[in-house]
Amino acid sequence: ASGNRPIRVAIVGSGPAGFYAAARLLSKQEDVKVDMFEKLPVPFGLARYGVAPDHPEVKNCEDKFTEVATSPRFNFVGNIDLGNDLPFSALKPHYDAILFAYGASKDKELGIPGEQALRSVYSARAFVGWYNGLPEHRDLNPDLAGEDAVIVGQGNVALDVARILLSDVDALRKTDIASHALEALAQSRIKRVRVVGRRGPLQAAFTIKEVRELLQLPSVSFEPIRKDVMPPDDFINGLPRAQKRLMQLLAKGSANDPQTATKSWSLDFLLSPECLNWSPMHPYHLSHTKFSRNELDPSDPYSPSSKVTPKTLGNGKRAEVNLTSSVFFRSVGYKSLPLPGLEDLGIDFDSRRGVIPNDGFGRVNGPLDGGETQKLPDGSLVSHLPGLYCAGWVKRGPTGVIASTMTDAFTTADTVIQDLASHKGSLLNAPGHGTSLGWDGVKETAQQRGLRATSWEDWQQIDAIERKNGEQKGRSREKFTRVQEMLDALD
Ligand code: FAD
Repeated sequence: ASGNRPIRVAIVGSGPAGFYAAARLLSKQEDVKVDMFEKLPVPFGLARYGVAPDHPEVKNCEDKFTEVATSPRFNFVGNIDLGNDLPFSALKPHYDAILFAYGASKDKELGIPGEQALRSVYSARAFVGWYNGLPEHRDLNPDLAGEDAVIVGQGNVALDVARILLSDVDALRKTDIASHALEALAQSRIKRVRVVGRRGPLQAAFTIKEVRELLQLPSVSFEPIRKDVMPPDDFINGLPRAQKRLMQLLAKGSANDPQTATKSWSLDFLLSPECLNWSPMHPYHLSHTKFSRNELDPSDPYSPSSKVTPKTLGNGKRAEVNLTSSVFFRSVGYKSLPLPGLEDLGIDFDSRRGVIPNDGFGRVNGPLDGGETQKLPDGSLVSHLPGLYCAGWVKRGPTGVIASTMTDAFTTADTVIQDLASHKGSLLNAPGHGTSLGWDGVKETAQQRGLRATSWEDWQQIDAIERKNGEQKGRSREKFTRVQEMLDALD
């Protein structure tokens, strides 16, 4: 460390990656002080704005994060969009390390005609943000006036979307789902949801818990999966336990009777979307999506990594199918973007993979002709940008649950601690060049730019109001859904 001065670490992002990294740094390194910057006035990233409102137990991680924030060496700086509101050059002199944990703020697109329509076509990211009260998607106002919905993608996020569309609104009323979403879902006429995937059941990304929840929804039936799409029973019986249970569950389907059920859903396999089509009579009404049928590699159809090819008919034409729906959701993954100004720190963002290039331990890679080079186990050479680290989805790509994000953030924090021990000084600034002031050194610049940073106490106030407003309606919380409303609530 720099004499008796504390080691200052700026963490960019207050989701699970940022908080678990902070927890580890603060517990393992006594002279570390953490400033956690967050774009929104409120913390917790996708734990608050991604995790489904009917999965409150998943949000228990927020209790752990709240405990981390009680440390006198932790400081929350909300409502500051780093890179946009403030350049990284304003931070750099005042910190010994910067740890990027800003997640994935975009979603992957399908790249098919019609996808960019303003109405009836939504990304799961936007829809999830809308029902969770994310200010960015407050005004999405999705079109739920028709009876059929198609979701493309078969991961757990797709199943979250399906479950929210099919759930009885009364079951959602007690949760912290955004009030505007509750109202809109109460009016929704969606009766049938198709969750469509490119490959087969053994290649799908969803997990058993999420499938079971959907199969158990009251008054919702499940359209049985076609026999020829499922692997044979003999094969299922020989699978590892988890996979076997999932396949057996899919084969068994739902106990709810389609005759009495009011809604239904299906898993539609081996279909790739080709284009969205609008009704000629009502140009604002989506009519159907054209899909091409796929075939699994016949030499290896049941491997989780099996690839698909388009199925052709006897006449050489592609086999196609149209699925009718008035609303379409794409749920094929999230995507991280570079923050403006990363390049000024020497970071060459990997736009193809959507990650900050790193060595897997959390050190940000630099050019090979500068910085400190290191040989990786695979023999390749990397150089590190001293003092720059990353964790979570922006490091690994947008996959993995909160538990894997925790492990990953711990690895990065341990790397920072290891590097601090070997460098014995600031990692980011040359000896004598850093101020080690942290937020105190940045504050004035932020004020001059007219920024209104929120503190942890501000969040506690917002949190208390949200809980109180919810309590009056028998709900766990009623979220503010606009940034201005959050700021206005503070005295
Ligand atoms: P995030 O949680 O996205 O946090 C990033 C934070 O950085 C955000 O708060 C963002 O506002 C902030 N930020 C972005 N840009 C800036 C900037 N310029 N300046 C300052 N701050 C910035 N996992 C489970 O275990 N169980 C579940 O049930 C579950 N459900 C999920 C449902 C959905 C719809 C999604 C998308 C994910 C779900 N996950 C679930 C996965 C889990 O949410 C992720 O593993 C985890 O949130 C990733 O953490 P992160 O910190 O990398 O990113």
